Amino acid sequence: MVHFVGAGPGAVDLITVRGKELIEKADVIIYAGSLVNPALLDYAREGCLKYDSAYMNLEEIMDVMLNSGGEIVRLHTGDPSIYGAIREQMDILDKEGVPYDICPGVSAMSGAAAALRAEYTLPGVSQSIIITRAGGRTGVPKGQDIKDMAGHGSTMILFLSAGLSDKVSRDLKEGGYPGDTPVAVVYKATWPEERIIHTTVDNLVKDMEENGIDKTALIIVGNVLGGEYELSRLYDKDFKTGYRK
Ligand code: SAH
Repeated sequence: MVHFVGAGPGAVDLITVRGKELIEKADVIIYAGSLVNPALLDYAREGCLKYDSAYMNLEEIMDVMLNSGGEIVRLHTGDPSIYGAIREQMDILDKEGVPYDICPGVSAMSGAAAALRAEYTLPGVSQSIIITRAGGRTGVPKGQDIKDMAGHGSTMILFLSAGLSDKVSRDLKEGGYPGDTPVAVVYKATWPEERIIHTTVDNLVKDMEENGIDKTALIIVGNVLGGEYELSRLYDKDFKTGYRK
């Protein structure tokens, strides 16, 4: 049986209890070594075989999954459903009749919110989150450029884009975010080397360059990072809910 497991954003104690138990029972672990905290592998039992998928192509990864037998953990960073490239693996497992399941994880975007002590959905400011990436070596489908989506003015969270800050800043502005819109860059959220930069759409490129950040970071954009919002109606004393009359 194959278990796709979300490793969480970095801190070793931010994996789920279920994910940890699956690692403890695994005969084989294939982990995304570029981003998964290696300390998670210490939960594995003695004799467990470990493969770093950073050095493997899809064929090699699938070869291990299809031919190892026993309990196999495929350890992905954050939550596997976000830029995890798990669908292509699952489709091959389906074709070969190999059973699998998925254990969710804490995404880097949740880790970054915690680091920032931020709420991405503030009443009166943004009630939507656009999770996206800048089109680089991997393109994005038509209509899904940052520019196309910036007009909503909602909270935007950019994965896989730290090396493209030029394009990000330009497209955000051309798409409609005013240049003084708050932006936060969170590098290695929840790792000991975590760093946070508070900047704006206009100053993003300069501030990322000055801080030498061009990978393993999220760029978070929007007025939820600013100071103004409305109080939530959920806890308003005059607002009745199913629980509070
Ligand atoms: N499935 C993962 C995302 C994988 S894509 C998740 O749910 O978090 C890899 C990208 O995620 C990186 O390029 C970076 O943009 C972001 N990322 C992963 N871990 C991060 C962390 N600890 N801090 C900030 N960004 C991170």
